[in-house]
Amino acid sequence: MTPDLMEQGARRAEAHRAALAAGSGKTESGGRAAGFSRLLTPGEVDVTHGRILYLEDVSVSFDGFTAINKLSLDIAPGELRCIIGPNGAGKTTMMDIITGKTRPDQGRVFFGSTIDLLRYSEAEIAQLGIGRKFQKPTVFEQLSVIENLELALKTDKTVAASMFFRLDSAQTDRLAEVLHTIHLAGSVSRQAGNLSHGQKQWLEIGMLLMQDPKLLLLDEPVAGMTDEETERTAELFLTLKGRHSLMVVEHDMSFINTISDIVTVLSEGSVLAQGTLAQVQADERVIEVYLGR
Ligand code: ADP
Ligand code: MG
Repeated sequence: MTPDLMEQGARRAEAHRAALAAGSGKTESGGRAAGFSRLLTPGEVDVTHGRILYLEDVSVSFDGFTAINKLSLDIAPGELRCIIGPNGAGKTTMMDIITGKTRPDQGRVFFGSTIDLLRYSEAEIAQLGIGRKFQKPTVFEQLSVIENLELALKTDKTVAASMFFRLDSAQTDRLAEVLHTIHLAGSVSRQAGNLSHGQKQWLEIGMLLMQDPKLLLLDEPVAGMTDEETERTAELFLTLKGRHSLMVVEHDMSFINTISDIVTVLSEGSVLAQGTLAQVQADERVIEVYLGR
C-alpha cells in the first residue's frame, strides 16, 4: 500500500465519520480540518486498512553505517509476527524506531492508518498502546509479584500518589486475568527477585499487559529460558495473539516454529524474505546469510 493510498483512505474514513457525526447534529472534529496524525478517539487506533503497524522505506545510519536500509514492513491487527535474522541485522534497531527511541533518517512509521509515530516521543508512544519488552527482565526485585503488576498501572509514581493509589474494579479484574495469563496466579506474594528467570520474564510481560497494549514488541523473549519455560511462553503468546498484535524477535527456531504464522527475515537492515518458517528456511538467500558464506 502506498502512502498516498493510506492518506486517501484516512481521509475517506474521516469523511465517513464526519458524515455520521453531521447526521447526528454534531461534528466529531469540532469543525477543524482532519489532522493527519490526530488521535480521533483516545485509545483507538484506526485499522480500517487492515494494518496496525506500517513501516515504509525506513533508513537509519550510525556514523555512516546503515543499520536500517529502506525497510518496509507491515503487520495486521491481532497478528503474531516473528522476526528472525542474523546478529546485527537491525532487529533491535527496528524496535527502537517503532518505540521512538531512535529517530530514522528517512521513511514513514505509522500506528494504524492515521498515527504518525515519528511525531511522538517514546513516552507518548507507550501511552498510545505500544508496549516493549527488552531482552533482560527489568522487574522490581524487592517488590512482590502483585506489587509489580500494580505498579505497572500507576502513572504517578511518587510516594504520596502511590500511598493513595487504589485499583478500580476493572483494574482488579484485569490484574486477576493477567496473573492467570502469565502463570503466576499461585505466586502473587512472592518477591520478584526470588522468581526464576522465566517467571521474571512473564512478570514483565504481565506488567506490559496491565496497560492492555494494542501492539507488543518482544525482543528475544525466551533467551535463557529452560525448555519448559520456553514451551509455556509459546502458549502464552498464542493466547495473546488476536487480542493484541505481537512482533516477536527470536533466534530459537523451535519456538518460532510453534508460534509463527508469517516470519520476516531481516538482513542488513531490510527484509530479505517473508513467508512461513518452512518457506523462508528453504530460501537460498536466507540460508546464505545464516551460513555467513
Ligand atoms: P540485531 O538486533 O538484529 O542483532 P541491532 O539492531 O542491535 O541488530 O544492530 C544493527 C547494527 O546497528 C549493528 O551493527 C549495531 O552495532 C548497530 N547499532 C545499533 N544501534 C546503534 C547505535 N545506537 N549506535 C551505533 N551503532 C548502532
Ligand atoms: Mg538485537
